[in-house]
Amino acid sequence: MKEDIFENGLKLPLIEEFYTVQGEGYHMGKAAYFIRLGGCDIACNWCDTKISWRADKHKLASVERIAESAGRSGANTIVVTGGEPTTYNLMPLCNELTERNIDLHIETSGAYPLTGEWDWICLSPKRQQPPEKTIYKLANELKIIIFSEEDFEWAEECAKQVNKNCKLYLQPEWSQHVELTPKVVEYVKQNTKWSISIQAHKFMKVP
Ligand code: SF4
Repeated sequence: MKEDIFENGLKLPLIEEFYTVQGEGYHMGKAAYFIRLGGCDIACNWCDTKISWRADKHKLASVERIAESAGRSGANTIVVTGGEPTTYNLMPLCNELTERNIDLHIETSGAYPLTGEWDWICLSPKRQQPPEKTIYKLANELKIIIFSEEDFEWAEECAKQVNKNCKLYLQPEWSQHVELTPKVVEYVKQNTKWSISIQAHKFMKVP
């Protein structure tokens, strides 16, 4: 991480913030307030938030301002996502949100060292830029996006490294979900430690 990037986390490039329901993984269906930060250099070719890649395309917002809006929403869970949120020092944001007694979740590829204190860590590692090793043991949830056959192997490699309580999910990549979902269903039937995550918010047509 570059030194002094956006005043060492006091300001963050904010793409959007919205109160909705979590669409994926273990907390699917639960109300949550999302904070989406800009900046990601992982370059997944199937990325559905390419708008997030360039941090300089998004306005900087102070962590106080971000936390105030989150607090006003009435949500009791915040999900910080991106982009790749570990690009930044997230401790100042966590400090502001913790004061408001809100559960803090993060969704990350784990590409950079994790900062901040989190109630729930959803690790979604990418083959082309594997995560920092230390995050595997911290993850509460491992979510592997299945885009091609090789991703099943990648999923198994990652599953060997997480802690024994970590929830394991395979998620069909959205643009091919019609073709991929039956394959993932078959895989889960044969490999029962895994569950399927679908992007339920896209079916519900909510953000
Ligand atoms: Fe997109 Fe996430 Fe991949 Fe970054 S890590 S390119 S935001 S899917």
